[in-house]
Amino acid sequence: MDNARQSEMLEIIKQLDLAIASHTEWFDAITRTMVCHLPYSKNDVAEDAHRLCRLGQWYYSTVPDKLRQHPGFIAMEEDHKSMHRLAADLLVKTEACHPVPAEEYDAFAAALGRMRLEMATIKRELESELYNLDGLTGAYSRIGMLTRLREQHELVRRNVQPSCVSMMDIDCFKTVNDTYGHASGDKVLSAVARFMLEHIRPYDKLFRYGGEEFLLCMQNTDVKTAYEVVERLRIGLAALPIDAGNGVELHIAMSFGVAQLAADISVERSIEEADQAMYAAKRAGRNTTLIWEPSMAVSP
Ligand code: GH3
Ligand code: MG
Ligand code: MG
Repeated sequence: MDNARQSEMLEIIKQLDLAIASHTEWFDAITRTMVCHLPYSKNDVAEDAHRLCRLGQWYYSTVPDKLRQHPGFIAMEEDHKSMHRLAADLLVKTEACHPVPAEEYDAFAAALGRMRLEMATIKRELESELYNLDGLTGAYSRIGMLTRLREQHELVRRNVQPSCVSMMDIDCFKTVNDTYGHASGDKVLSAVARFMLEHIRPYDKLFRYGGEEFLLCMQNTDVKTAYEVVERLRIGLAALPIDAGNGVELHIAMSFGVAQLAADISVERSIEEADQAMYAAKRAGRNTTLIWEPSMAVSP
């Protein structure tokens, strides 16, 4: 696993693990303080206690964007804050040996539970994403691709957002293998995927569909925009110098077929249309993007 994307994900999961561990430590310490009616720490009753604890210090530091933009990460801020506010009240009461109403404790436990659930969910999602990455290219593997596309299809069916897919295939890739060897071919494949991953928009998802074929899922994107997105990739890739190892620098091109995810047709059918459009782009001379149209359908 030497892929940059995988290393980034591993690093995020490691950070999350540390954050969960420091939160557990904090929780164990304040439980002891409360139960034994010990003097509390000033930080734990401060207005910004949620920024002073170790979890908070991490939360408000420079967390990688991938995590910062995660809905669970955003949601946990409020629960973490209210958990600290409730904990502060409990600490003041318990130190003074005042009784704690059950509902106050329950409110604290509920905020704590929600925050822990949010952290566990983020971790599970990141792990499942990590294990679904293709080892060579860092794109998503085909596992989970149909599930993802069906989710998009459901949004299209409910008129929530248009979505498109693009089938992408490297032109004359066999020649790269035949001329420079399979190891160079692998380097090219990995460089192509890296370029695409760096240039797609945050919500686009790239899957390795087969050997040198990729499928891009573009959510909330109409066909005209999808064409523009893919054209930018095509032009960028064709201009990209690729280090194929052994001092060899080469250029490759790709052919792209674009199709819509439509309410009245299956996801499998949309993939087939994108594939037919991609083959039409090959026939049109390669290094081309075409949008599917009925005339491209291959009769069975
Ligand atoms: P076209 O422009 O029509 O797409 O021609 P092509 O040569 O790209 O197409 P073809 O399907 O004939 O060849 C694809 C090649 O991709 C054949 C296969 O050996 C190679 N390939 C598939 N997966 C890998 C891989 O993981 N690593 C390497 N190095 N080569 C691969
Ligand atoms: Mg192919
Ligand atoms: Mg090919």
